[in-house]
Amino acid sequence: MKSLAGMTWPMVAQAVADGMTTVILPLGATEQHGPHLPLGTDTVRAHALAERLAERLPVLVAPALPIGCSDEHEGFAGLLSLEAETLAAVIADCARRMAGWGVRRLVVLSAHGGNGRALALAEARLRRELPELALWIPDAALVCGDGVREVAAFDGIPPATIGLHAGEGETSELLHLCPQQVRMDRAIPGYTGDMEEGLTRLVAAGTRALTSTGVVGDPRPADAGRGERYLAAQAACYEAALAWLLAADPVTSPESVGA
Ligand SMILES: [Zn+2]
Repeated sequence: MKSLAGMTWPMVAQAVADGMTTVILPLGATEQHGPHLPLGTDTVRAHALAERLAERLPVLVAPALPIGCSDEHEGFAGLLSLEAETLAAVIADCARRMAGWGVRRLVVLSAHGGNGRALALAEARLRRELPELALWIPDAALVCGDGVREVAAFDGIPPATIGLHAGEGETSELLHLCPQQVRMDRAIPGYTGDMEEGLTRLVAAGTRALTSTGVVGDPRPADAGRGERYLAAQAACYEAALAWLLAADPVTSPESVGA
């Protein structure tokens, strides 16, 4: 048991005393994911990735925060969103409490791209206010992008099909993680043009201006087995990248673990 929400306080105290002083804080979102995926898609993915890492590494897992910064999805029903400053404050507040019961390393694992500005704010604040806490806020695209693309290329899935949002990639993962919540009979392609250009337009004018379905990519070829391999590839990338953080001593060398 490494999930904070399912542990008792003596269990946590014992784990920390035994040297388990790293926590993963998964960040999700509540936002449209096309007509076929649930609003909590990113929360499910963030939680699943953190749990996978906890199976392999000596880390505790905090409950996934289910609301992020998702205003780029304004105009679609069901949206919940925080200001970047609010989310940054929530992350910093949680980190401060963790440090109070012995946490020395924090990994903020965001499954939602829109959280970028909040993460930068949180990082600046934590480095200033809690310099003794080793912090890692990985950029998912940088850490896992190649791993995911390799899986897709092996199966002949092009980048415009994987997509950026509710496309084949996320749909395959959800088919593996919670198939009962995926409505494949509603899965339709959205924007399938150049993904870099799509991202620029999405950030500038919102998802609604790019696609009326809310989908960026094509979910139709999604496959649960491939989703499992996507998640395994991401977990492997994070695991490899985390080795240095787990080996670092944040108390004696806080400067050595800058992201
Ligand atoms: Zn998503």
